[in-house]
Amino acid sequence: MDNVIEIKEWYKETLAHRVIDSLEKNNMTAFYVKTGEEARERVLSLIPVGSKVGYGGSLSLDQIGVKDVLRAGNYHLIDRHKPQLTPEQKDDLRKESLLADVFLMSTNAVTMDGKLVNIDGIGNRVAALIFGPPKVIVVAGINKIVPDTEAARQRIKNYVAPIHARRLGLPLPCAETGKCLDCRSPLRFCNAVVTIEHQYQKDRITVIIVGEDLGL
Ligand code: SF4
Repeated sequence: MDNVIEIKEWYKETLAHRVIDSLEKNNMTAFYVKTGEEARERVLSLIPVGSKVGYGGSLSLDQIGVKDVLRAGNYHLIDRHKPQLTPEQKDDLRKESLLADVFLMSTNAVTMDGKLVNIDGIGNRVAALIFGPPKVIVVAGINKIVPDTEAARQRIKNYVAPIHARRLGLPLPCAETGKCLDCRSPLRFCNAVVTIEHQYQKDRITVIIVGEDLGL
């Protein structure tokens, strides 16, 4: 039992490298780092000082603290979480993020064959992932790895969504039942389910897989 921690580390790294090989085949760049702290440093190393940076809502990014560093540093963070912004101003910032130099986000799932699967309510996050910013950096905890796109969909609809809804106190069916009931609520936040199967431009998307659980 004394080397079980070491063996678990080996397993996580081996698993991550299988996914990285798949992501590379899909024309994305990918790295493995062991900790959230290393992930933050790797993200920062990829963003030139002075860059205009947009982001998608993400617990993972909050956990690694990268936005705080960007706020304090010499970057132009398109920050829609500043206090006292009106809904219209937030919407303008969402649009401005599509023109950022760099867009940061996590992913709801990454498959063993190197696909990124994400849900979105408004669509700004997946829009930037698909097109706009010339550089997109995705931070994914090891917990986001799933076998395939069907497992990704199951994870998102029957695990991520119920927890997210309950965490925010949203009166949605999944927050009560723990599974998706394909609701028509105006608060529904899974209006778009987007799979990135391949990138048109090599190295536009960089995925950093972290050997820790991050986000949901
Ligand atoms: S469709 Fe409705 S019930 Fe299903 S995951 Fe989305 S918000 Fe929840």
